[in-house]
Amino acid sequence: MLFLALIFGLIIGSFLNVIIYRLPLNLQGKNYSIISPSRSICPNCQVPLGFWQLLPLLSFIIQKGKCKSCKAKISWQYPIIELISAVISVLIIARFGIGFEAFFYLLFGYISITLFIIDFKHQLLPDVLTLGLLWLGLLFHLEDFAALSQGIIGAVAGYLSLWSIHWIFKLLTGKAGFGYGDFKLTAALGVWLGWEILPLLISLSAAAALIFALFKGIKIGQVFAFGPFLLIIGNFLLFINKIAL
Ligand SMILES: [Zn+2]
Repeated sequence: MLFLALIFGLIIGSFLNVIIYRLPLNLQGKNYSIISPSRSICPNCQVPLGFWQLLPLLSFIIQKGKCKSCKAKISWQYPIIELISAVISVLIIARFGIGFEAFFYLLFGYISITLFIIDFKHQLLPDVLTLGLLWLGLLFHLEDFAALSQGIIGAVAGYLSLWSIHWIFKLLTGKAGFGYGDFKLTAALGVWLGWEILPLLISLSAAAALIFALFKGIKIGQVFAFGPFLLIIGNFLLFINKIAL
């Protein structure tokens, strides 16, 4: 069963790679969608990949990380995302078995990975993913009234707290602190975690972002994505609170 979860996770991971690559292009108005072009192409030489090259992880190992046609290096992002997706799938199926909870937690994990990479690379948190995460969280808590009300307050409080920090910062300095995608992502995480966890989520994410900025030598006023920090801390807190117990 866990072996099937592993294979399933690898296949989903390879699908997440397609979304990560195509969704930002689609939002820029380019002619890309989930189904078009129907076969993935090499980003360097545009040659369509053969069927056996679409096998997750294995194809990367067989091709030694290079495109078969043009020998361009294939990004490590592809096998790493497939692996992370596989690990998440195995952990969740091992903890919950196949069922309602596993289904929602798997979607939470998959959407988190996708948002993480897209925001990190493009400083973009697509609505279809942040709001999708929010609606999923509400559906997940539908049967449990206490969790649902915690989640609804969490969504409102999550959105408004980042929104107010953003505007206070903007009025004081004239610069934008966060993007609207960050508000929606915090709202979505607020639904999943409940409002009581929000202060911890926001302060830990801000601390992580600060450490990252110092470590990378990012200067004051320089822009970088905040979403990945919210996502890492959000996943960590959800895991500690709901999954590990
Ligand atoms: Zn190529």
